[in-house]
Amino acid sequence: MRSTPLHPVARLPEEWSTSLASRGERAFTAKQVFHWIHRRGVLDPAAMTNLPARLREHLAAEGLGEVLTPERVHRSEDGTRKLLLRLRDGATIETVLLPSVSGPGSQAQLDADAGDDDEDDDAADAGAAPRVRVTQCISTQVGCAMGCGFCASGVAGLKRHLGAEEIAGQVLLGRAMLEEGEELRNVVYMGMGEPLHNYEATARSLRLLTHPEGINLSTRRVTVSTSGLVPEIARLGADFGGQIALAISLHAADDETRSALMPINRKYPLDELLAALRAYPLPRRRRITIEYTLVAGQNDDPAEARRLAKLLRGLPVKINLIPMNPIEASSLGPPGHERVAAFQEVLTQAGYSCFVRRRRGDDVSAACGQLVLLGATPKVRRALG
Ligand code: SAH
Ligand code: SF4
Repeated sequence: MRSTPLHPVARLPEEWSTSLASRGERAFTAKQVFHWIHRRGVLDPAAMTNLPARLREHLAAEGLGEVLTPERVHRSEDGTRKLLLRLRDGATIETVLLPSVSGPGSQAQLDADAGDDDEDDDAADAGAAPRVRVTQCISTQVGCAMGCGFCASGVAGLKRHLGAEEIAGQVLLGRAMLEEGEELRNVVYMGMGEPLHNYEATARSLRLLTHPEGINLSTRRVTVSTSGLVPEIARLGADFGGQIALAISLHAADDETRSALMPINRKYPLDELLAALRAYPLPRRRRITIEYTLVAGQNDDPAEARRLAKLLRGLPVKINLIPMNPIEASSLGPPGHERVAAFQEVLTQAGYSCFVRRRRGDDVSAACGQLVLLGATPKVRRALG
């Protein structure tokens, strides 16, 4: 869909080396330019003071500059900030900053949500100055082509893919907007769009965000959420050696129910999706996150929970139950509290780690359901045999 040349913000250090060497620049300038953009978050060439003037002019001529402009920030009482960002062509996307919630167990839940099963470095952090860990939720497309009926992006349809510079740019901006004592800890690809439908840009943004010379996020703290594009799940696993944390939007345990909620299931039915999950080269002691949006009268029957328990048997997973966030364009809605609790109980009894994710940022005009990550109530965590 995008045939434009690679934007300067999307370039990796080795690509800067090639392009700058061909202009006769010295070898270390490539690293300097990448540092300015991705380590320091400076996108205006005029501000890159240690570069020669002719190089700064060249970078400006190549189009280096801001890729997104914050248009509005909605702040929720619980500290959640939802940012509306304008792209250069006028389209808008959203990204959300979610500071860790205070209270026992809450951080573990946010970390768990982002595929972080490793408690070692949490122990190492003990005694350090208290920091607020922030999870950022980012978008990969304007709208989405997958057409899930409970999702505002799906109902809107796909407007266009984002470039890697726009995906990584959200994190550059999010990081710049951190407040005193906050630290960007996790990035989740759970905003607008289907990341694996925009595979090239998503993969490039993952390389940019995890590059040691740049933002340097740990791969296991970056989670890609997908509705289940089977070939691209395999590709992601191969390209990143299984290091990127994976979240699967399952939302049903039988093909009929799933196809009704998620048209993509007709293309990649459950047996193919489950085979792709089994083949994902997951590192030891890591788990795949299963997202299950509970929609009243559609997929919330305890019998469906029993089917789900059976379907997932043997897979290293943790399950997040998300009562559907109502959207304007649909009459679908969340089940009542008791129904949610009953569904969770079946899965907990079956031995799964299963959390109910409550909406956060409710008071910030949360039109886009998937953009609200949730604080959770811990339930007994039992290791799967
Ligand atoms: N396209 C990807 C990632 C973006 S959607 C995917 O589907 O996984 C991120 C998550 O938000 C998905 O699990 C999606 O099912 C969920 N979601 C979308 N609309 C929602 C709504 N109205 N209420 C609750 N969850 C929703
Ligand atoms: Fe697209 Fe995900 Fe929304 Fe489905 S839930 S329409 S895949 S953004």
